[in-house]
Amino acid sequence: MAVENYSAEVELQEAIQQLRNQGVRITPQRQAVLAYLIEADTHPTADEIYKALSPNFESMSVATIYNNLKVFKESGLVTELTYGDAASRYDFDTANHYHVICTSCGKITDFQYPRLDEVEQIAQHLSGHKITHHRMEIYGICPECAKKEER
Ligand SMILES: [Zn+2]
Ligand SMILES: [Zn+2]
Repeated sequence: MAVENYSAEVELQEAIQQLRNQGVRITPQRQAVLAYLIEADTHPTADEIYKALSPNFESMSVATIYNNLKVFKESGLVTELTYGDAASRYDFDTANHYHVICTSCGKITDFQYPRLDEVEQIAQHLSGHKITHHRMEIYGICPECAKKEER
């Protein structure tokens, strides 16, 4: 998949460089999965990534996707968003945004908000835990679902 906008292209090249620095081999499939995650704002599942990319790659399987997602996760480029028994969703670079989730259709929308580093420091200070990360999600009804409910 061609990366069309310039900033996505820069993000892709930086991500590839980071992976190379970590000793990760970059295959065409790996690069395609990464490009897809950077371009998509839909927080896709592994199945959705597979459906989008497999027409371009004869040898691609869902296992290939999971394998790549695992590599990206370990390198810190991609966050796995887990929701109980539902399929995990994957998101590139969650460092500068949080999520608002529609309780009606389940859509996940990004919004820019400064990372809440302070709450991690306070949690560490008060609890003695060595903090690794935090997760904050805002819930509500998206504009499309609100319109449907009005009818
Ligand atoms: Zn909705
Ligand atoms: Zn996101």
